[in-house]
Amino acid sequence: MYSNSLIELDRAHLVHPVASYRGHEQQGVRVLSSAKGATITDAQGRQLIDGFAGLWCVNAGYGHETIVEAAARQMRELPYATAYFGLGSESAIRLAAELAERAPGDLNHIYFTLGGSDAIDSTVRFIRYYWFARGQPQRDQFISMEQGYHGSSTVGAGLTALPNFHAGFGVPLDWQHKIPSPYPYRNPVGQDANAIIQASLAALRAKVDAIGANRVAAFYAEPIQGSGGVIVPPKGWMKAMRELCKELDILFVADEVITGFGRTGPLFACSEDEIVPDFITTAKGLTSGYIPMGAVFMADHVYQVIADGAGASAVGHGYTYSAHPVSAAVGLEVLKLYEGGLLENGIKAGARLMAGLESLRDHPLVGDVRGRGMLAAIELVVDKAAKTPLPAEAQPSRRIFDRAWENGLVVRAFANGVLGYAPPLCCTDTDIDAIIERTERTLDQTLEDPDVRRALKD
Ligand code: PLP
Repeated sequence: MYSNSLIELDRAHLVHPVASYRGHEQQGVRVLSSAKGATITDAQGRQLIDGFAGLWCVNAGYGHETIVEAAARQMRELPYATAYFGLGSESAIRLAAELAERAPGDLNHIYFTLGGSDAIDSTVRFIRYYWFARGQPQRDQFISMEQGYHGSSTVGAGLTALPNFHAGFGVPLDWQHKIPSPYPYRNPVGQDANAIIQASLAALRAKVDAIGANRVAAFYAEPIQGSGGVIVPPKGWMKAMRELCKELDILFVADEVITGFGRTGPLFACSEDEIVPDFITTAKGLTSGYIPMGAVFMADHVYQVIADGAGASAVGHGYTYSAHPVSAAVGLEVLKLYEGGLLENGIKAGARLMAGLESLRDHPLVGDVRGRGMLAAIELVVDKAAKTPLPAEAQPSRRIFDRAWENGLVVRAFANGVLGYAPPLCCTDTDIDAIIERTERTLDQTLEDPDVRRALKD
């Protein structure tokens, strides 16, 4: 049963990430107690389909004994090994090799972190060092996208373009710049793929010109913008942006923290986009959320410049838990599961998910349906022609999340009325059908929300 004392202890002591502290104190925590496959169970015994795989990370699904065993085995044998002082562990070395083998192109050098934010921070440090080693230390300006999300460190939050990651925190920093998102549903140039791509290319060129061509170090993009609202750029967008960065001699970082490890189908969305970036950042699906770990994939030509530039000196960037052996052991096991059928199942389930969401397109509140593989969204509006978002009074992120929860579904409800889906790749047909059916019920209930009805009438 829900324990009141647990709720009180949480209220008094646990500071939650990205939360309204006062709102949370009022509402109280919902305690999760167990999970299996795509189903989680809360402390009251309520079973829910996890349509968001935790925080788009439990790609393999819950309850894999072989992952538990891999971690336990590693903990028994060698729970910690530093990768400083020229030391290492077998699991970390093997995972780096396995990842390099599967990465696109020459992204052969793997730097392990604890998660996505420090993977992003690491790329900024490596990129600064790279330009320093190339004798161009004045290349210290970084460009990313509006609606982009790149983590919650000061550097990552500055590259991020979500208002509540900026307000009060003194970011973005003065070397961090943004260009507009390709956002097909709301792009001022309309939905035509070529027009969107040309607009993004022109925006990047203009930004580089404004900053100074010899000042820009790198450009960051997510293959699909996750936290910005699951924004799927048109096919060819990543490739065009990558090519332009080559032409401008700017490093290209593909942030695959969400899209990596089967979320969109293959291990890397970049493979599907047919690009080889200079860096890929990953986390989440790397260990399927069973234990923290991130990884930066660095292209050979970048690595060689840094290595030559440093010579006999140490490149001063590292964490106590870099290349953690237990996380790496989990990563190796998870990779086996992906390739032992999970990626394939994810592709099948993703097609069913997209078809199911498409079937909701005619619902009075659904303005847009978008996604790729097991990463999808519907965008709710009160006026389809004008694309008017749900009114703030309807509190979409709170009320829709709560309704879905009551209906047995965990869905990401963004404040602007976008509903995000990232279910585990292990979902069965029944799981996917339940996600769709429970979404429809949630939408019908939202239609009855007085604040939504009022906005619809207007
Ligand atoms: N980059 C992207 C694209 C993300 O979606 C996230 C997290 O959601 C991060 C970076 C930061 O990762 P973490 O939360 O593991 O620090």
